[in-house]
Amino acid sequence: MTSIETKSVHTATMKERTIQSKVMPLYQTSAFSFSSLEELEGYYEGNGTYLYSRTANPNTDALGQTVADLEMAPKGVSASSGTSAILAGILSVVKAGDHILAAQDVYGGTFHLLKEELVLMGIGVHFADFSNFSEIEQLLIDMPEIKLVFSESITNPFLRMEDIEALCQLKSTYDVRIMIDNTFATPYTTTPYSLGVDLVAHSATKYLGGHSDVTAGVLVGDAELIGIAEKRVVNLGLNLSPFEAWLTIRGIKTLALRMKTQTENAQAIAAFLEGKARVWYPGAGAIVSFELPESVDVSEFFSSLGWIKIVPTLAGVETTVSYPYGTSHRALSAEEKEKIGVTRQVVRLSAGIEGIEDILEQLGAAFV
Ligand SMILES: *Cc1c(COP(=O)(O)O)cnc(C)c1O
Repeated sequence: MTSIETKSVHTATMKERTIQSKVMPLYQTSAFSFSSLEELEGYYEGNGTYLYSRTANPNTDALGQTVADLEMAPKGVSASSGTSAILAGILSVVKAGDHILAAQDVYGGTFHLLKEELVLMGIGVHFADFSNFSEIEQLLIDMPEIKLVFSESITNPFLRMEDIEALCQLKSTYDVRIMIDNTFATPYTTTPYSLGVDLVAHSATKYLGGHSDVTAGVLVGDAELIGIAEKRVVNLGLNLSPFEAWLTIRGIKTLALRMKTQTENAQAIAAFLEGKARVWYPGAGAIVSFELPESVDVSEFFSSLGWIKIVPTLAGVETTVSYPYGTSHRALSAEEKEKIGVTRQVVRLSAGIEGIEDILEQLGAAFV
């Protein structure tokens, strides 16, 4: 090998197999090479090698398995976003002609996925108030086409904790699968698969990644369903990039430390806000929602928060606030917002890992 053209392409890749890296290397490659046709044939016989990154990649595989382990589920698959993980999960259970029943307070993006996209695929979509169990049962009785019941372990923005065990009980009477979005709670707080849920989805963009620098999703659960979901990810091109998987795995290493501190901070923030605002905090997780009294000007409040930034996401290591009325629930009519209680005075706070005295001081300053 003598020419610059050849050396610039091949030299670096010659040595790699002898290097023992402490953390998993990043396989930032779109495909994998084979040294013989026999080796290539071996791939198709299932010898564990890799072919093409949309089909499978060591980093994205490792992320799926890591989250499956945390959720105590047998198998996982990663996807390009929480939304794609949810789509792959849904399509592993339902097909055209089948119906889905979802909680009416699901994340806005999920609501749009169901209402605008899945209906185009011929899937029937129903929403119900999941805090009213008889509403769920009545729909299941009336609609035997419902094959999947979907909710979130902790909902947004009022942090209703889903009765997951009650939902799983439905399986003994109706021919349905249960799917839970565990993004807000994380496996630090609850592991829905161990309670009988078939599929657990995550927006890893939030707590799993934890640093607001990736958009990623993971779906874990029943091995057979995840096998089908993997096929959906490959065929629909919902795959995650290796680098995002690598970053998410790096984030997950500190998940428990972050969740511990963020949960403690959220508890202290909720206690601090009592008496100053109407507070929603379910006692777990690191999100606190509150409604400012009419005497507090909401724009002034948001402008007075100093280093607590206004950010339309959650779960980073920084304490941030979001404005459901103007962002996550913006698309709803004034009437719909009124109905679910998302008024102009509602604030959603994502507790970070800063010193609690600094957070309370900055928050307190916005109230005067
Ligand atoms: C953010 C979020 C999603 C969507 O995740 P993306 O990674 O943005 O696609 C789904 N569910 C919940 C609860 C979320 O917070």
